[in-house]
Amino acid sequence: MEWRARILVVEDEPDIRRFVRLTLQTEGHEVHEASTLQRGLIEAGSRRPELAIVDLGLPDGDGVDLIRELRTWSTAPVIVLSARSGEADKVAALDAGADDYLVKPFGAAELMARVRAQLRRQALGPTTSEPVLRFGTVSVDLARRVVERDGEPLHLTPIEYRLLTHLAGQPDRVVTHQQLLKAVWGPGHAQDTHYVRVHMANLRKKVEADPSMPRHLLTEAGIGYRFRA
Ligand code: CA
Repeated sequence: MEWRARILVVEDEPDIRRFVRLTLQTEGHEVHEASTLQRGLIEAGSRRPELAIVDLGLPDGDGVDLIRELRTWSTAPVIVLSARSGEADKVAALDAGADDYLVKPFGAAELMARVRAQLRRQALGPTTSEPVLRFGTVSVDLARRVVERDGEPLHLTPIEYRLLTHLAGQPDRVVTHQQLLKAVWGPGHAQDTHYVRVHMANLRKKVEADPSMPRHLLTEAGIGYRFRA
C-alpha cells in the first residue's frame, strides 16, 4: 500500500521547507521544492506530483490560488500548511480543493501520518465505487442503500444517509461545512451550517458507539468534518 511518491513542497520559509523535505526523504519519497506561488505552478506542471504540500502565505500570492489552479488539471491530494490563526484561510483552501491541513508548528510524525493517509486514499481511489463501506461494526451497502450496525438494520433519514456516504466516500479528507451543504442539501443552502450540526449529531447517535467521543465522524472545529474508518 505504501509507495515512493513524487511530492511537491511549496513553502517560502527555508527551515520549514528543509524540515519537510528531509522528513519525506526519510520515507523514501522523491521531493521537489518551490519557494513561490509562480515557481510552485511551474514545478507542478513539469513534475506532475502525486501529492502537494502547500503553504498558504507565499511571497507572491496566496497558496489558495495555487490550489485552485492545480485543481483545474490535477486530482493529486493537497495538504495545506497554515498558521493556527488563519481558520478562514484554511476553509478557503479546503473549499478550493485542498484535502487536509497541518497547523504550524508540526512534528515529523504528524506530517508523515497525514501524508500516508492521503497517499492511501489516493491509492484506494474513491471508496464510493466499492459496493459496501465498512467501519467499526457498521456496514453501508451502497447498491441497496441499506445500513446495518452489528448486523441489525439501522434506519437513517435520507439526509443522514447522504451525509454518511459523502463523508465515508472520502476518508481522511477534511470536508468543509460548505462542501457538505452543497453535496447533501444542494447549492441553495450554503449559509445553513446549523443544519449540518443538527443532522450530524443525530447521525452520530446512530452509528457511533459513544456519540460524545466519535471515532469515525470527527469534528474539525470551525471548519467541518473528517471521516476515519
Ligand atoms: Ca509562508
